[in-house]
Amino acid sequence: MSAERIRVRGLVQGVGFRPTVWRLAHELGLLGDVRNDGEGVLIRLQPADPTDTDAIERFCTRLRAECPPLARIDAVERTRLEARLDTTTFAILGSDAGAVHTGIVADAATCPACLAEIRDPADRRYRYPFTNCTHCGPRLSIVRGIPYDRARTSMAAFPMCARCRAEYEDPADRRFHAQPNACPDCGPHLWLVDAGGREIAPAELDAPDAIAAASRLLTEGRILAIKGIGGFHLACDATHDTAVETLRQRKRRFAKPFALMARDPDVIRRHARLSELEVEWLASPAAPILLLERLRDSDLAPGIAPGQSTLGFMLPYSPLHHLLLADWDRPLVMTSGNLSDEPPCIDNADALARLSGLADHLLLHDRDIVNRVDDSVWRLMDGRPRPLRRARGYAPAPIRLPPGFGSTAPILALGGELKNSVCLIRDGSAILSQHLGDLEEARTAREYRATLALYGELFQHRPEILAVDRHPDYHSTQLGRAWAEREGLTLIEVQHHHAHLASVLADNDWPLDGGAVLGILLDGLGLGEDGTLWGGEFLLGDYRGVRRVGHLTPAAMPGGVRAIREPWRNLLARLEDAGGWEHWRARYPDLEVMRRLEAQPIGLARSLIARGLNAPRSSSAGRLFDAVAAALGLGGETLSYEGQAAIELEALASTFARTSGTESGYVFDLDCSNRPWRLDPTPLWDALLSDLEHGLPPARVAARFHLGFAAAISDMGARLARDLAVETIALSGGVFQNRLLLESVAGGLRDAGLTPLVHRRLPANDGGLALGQGCVAAALTGDAAGA
Ligand SMILES: [Zn+2]
Ligand SMILES: [Zn+2]
Repeated sequence: MSAERIRVRGLVQGVGFRPTVWRLAHELGLLGDVRNDGEGVLIRLQPADPTDTDAIERFCTRLRAECPPLARIDAVERTRLEARLDTTTFAILGSDAGAVHTGIVADAATCPACLAEIRDPADRRYRYPFTNCTHCGPRLSIVRGIPYDRARTSMAAFPMCARCRAEYEDPADRRFHAQPNACPDCGPHLWLVDAGGREIAPAELDAPDAIAAASRLLTEGRILAIKGIGGFHLACDATHDTAVETLRQRKRRFAKPFALMARDPDVIRRHARLSELEVEWLASPAAPILLLERLRDSDLAPGIAPGQSTLGFMLPYSPLHHLLLADWDRPLVMTSGNLSDEPPCIDNADALARLSGLADHLLLHDRDIVNRVDDSVWRLMDGRPRPLRRARGYAPAPIRLPPGFGSTAPILALGGELKNSVCLIRDGSAILSQHLGDLEEARTAREYRATLALYGELFQHRPEILAVDRHPDYHSTQLGRAWAEREGLTLIEVQHHHAHLASVLADNDWPLDGGAVLGILLDGLGLGEDGTLWGGEFLLGDYRGVRRVGHLTPAAMPGGVRAIREPWRNLLARLEDAGGWEHWRARYPDLEVMRRLEAQPIGLARSLIARGLNAPRSSSAGRLFDAVAAALGLGGETLSYEGQAAIELEALASTFARTSGTESGYVFDLDCSNRPWRLDPTPLWDALLSDLEHGLPPARVAARFHLGFAAAISDMGARLARDLAVETIALSGGVFQNRLLLESVAGGLRDAGLTPLVHRRLPANDGGLALGQGCVAAALTGDAAGA
């Protein structure tokens, strides 16, 4: 029986893969070796007993079945070797220096084995909040460079004690090569301070340790800043009305919902509907926040999620969380540790400076967070959980690109302006960074540059091609243009909605040469090919190019960017286009919305529209949602975050959809006389205002808008698909994070015999934009570009 060489591709480095191979080889009586290299893991095997002819076969079967929890096997390739190996053992070999690019994995939630240790009074890691092993613990959040070993993480400051070192060096141990391995004798520790930075001994609070003391303070209604895995959280008792209200006031975050953490699924079930699939997702190693449908009789403080029908829940994902929540049968608020629009704190000194006005106490530790990695957010929509924000637990896991993207020069895609992430592409694989945030914010823009440098270093990625959005004012575009010019790199500017289309295609493994599809791209704003602002687009095409075949009728945005924050401006503009303000005021003089509009500077706004001055016209679907929300008085005069009015509109509509059966939607006009076709909401306004005049509940009006808009979108999509002879319709853009709309549109398209493509691993909003930009750049420059 001869020897074999086995190549394993996928997520196989830094996840305890080699020890698993070592263990299986020993158990099956196989000799040889295993090593990491630039393509993954390489194994050489031969049976110690030459008559054992199927040992290698059994090895391969068990390798898949017993794959370590954080690993992902994409391919196993076996080659028979002519000569027998000259060895009498099985060895784990070192990594080929410089050749490894896949060693950094995502941060992972505490595994069951570590959890059992911190709960066992006899264990040396009893109540130790930094317990971790090869199957769990911090990764991306603590890494400074490669190769990924302890010296290049923030664990470098903690030399391992003899017992930890022995675990680290033993291939049979769960902590073999676990870089953040630590114990109470050698690892990081926690302490509690007050807002003035004075350390508080746990004994002062009659508590055995700092975590127990922190738990006591939370019970008393205090607000704590807690240093976690990828950043600080602000925590308080979620049933304590005063604490929640105080936190909201101090954070100056008046509308954004607070995330919650609960000890176990049973605690969550008292406040939100929870399916088995959702439990599975919450309990996965990535441990994201999941948006869940709120129960009416939940006794959580009203300030948790004002105007929302959902609650964002996660389970504990670090030993600190497990220990803190152990005695809590109610949820804790665990919202990001920041003030309004700033990115969350990661540093002790920064936290003391920025969070001491927000928190009564801070629970600090001395393991540095090197990279900010926010909590990920997912939601069950159209049959499966889908990401709304991709960060902790997911980045920087590689995403395999569809067939046809195998050979490309190194590409770096710089993303958009809001909800930015960046993407590295090489050799058919993409690395999408964690969610970084809004580059308009100066701190985030600084972190953005640091992240670009870090990812370049971690993945040894020196881009030859840069992909950016076409919008000249985006920080990312400006940075990319300057970089390309400075270093003579190829710059590819990708239209915003083309990037969205490419992103959802790649997310669904659509091959490079899979042919054209119809994309329905609904979002806030993106610069269009004609220089106007787009956002309600029907594009025909693929990775290489698109043609605009339909769109929402544009309306003005009087006041420019102010229309993004002040929804009434969008309503006024739509009413101006649909007959004029005077007409509507005369027709519905008693409606409250008319009085609300009259309280605004509508004279000035109307003159901006009339003169076309600082009133750019946009086909944005997001602004249409804002206009309808304004008609219903949602979101207030000024929104506190982009998309708030649309989210509240969906929440309102879903309260109606839950309690009622069938309802008819508002009608839209479809003008198919010329390409691009136009979807015109004009008929909507009379129907909607008339409903309000007849006293229909706003929830029902919101539901009728959702139904009508979804029906109009899927109807127009189906007609265009027939006309253009395509069967696949790709849905992307932030507006498709609206569950009601996504499910109605996808359902409508399926009813018409079409196949909708919906995001699965990437957010539909600009969080997935960079990957789309990268795919377009690859399609336009790769080997297959000329095909
Ligand atoms: Zn573990
Ligand atoms: Zn130790």
